Amino acid sequence: MSNNERTLSIIKPDAIERNLSEQIKLIFTKNNLTIIDSKKLHISKDEAAEFYKVHQSKPFYDQLCNYLSSGPIEVIILEGENAILKNRELMGATDPKNAKEGTIRKLYGISIDKNSVHGSDSAGNAKTEINFFFKK
Ligand code: UDP
Ligand code: MG
Repeated sequence: MSNNERTLSIIKPDAIERNLSEQIKLIFTKNNLTIIDSKKLHISKDEAAEFYKVHQSKPFYDQLCNYLSSGPIEVIILEGENAILKNRELMGATDPKNAKEGTIRKLYGISIDKNSVHGSDSAGNAKTEINFFFKK
């Protein structure tokens, strides 16, 4: 049984700033995730607030929106077998201190907020998040 999926990855400002985009994309492609589309952009705080609205009740929401809009990001559509879960595994835990060896956040994350990457967490959110950045 195959379960081909698409998911959204975001390379966050801290990683773009350190020129880590190519290394991070290599981790995806080496793990059988195909890059369907990608683009670099700099979103406004309002756009970040819309993107992260599932977190609007959280104490870190305002800081999170400031952060995602603080510099250029790269948004990437990944496709592959179980792509949503696979991307989450490659990313590692939200707090880089708790991320497993070899994961993107363990390798490159600076702190719980500057944790280098975002990844969709469910099929529903993957669809919504891909449409958010790649509207036809
Ligand atoms: N975040 C934060 N402080 C926290 C928890 C989360 O700054 O205490 C940020 C962090 O950048 C994280 C994002 O909010 O990546 C979204 O949180 P979520 O729990 O969805 O983590 P993720 O799905 O990114 O692992
Ligand atoms: Mg999340």
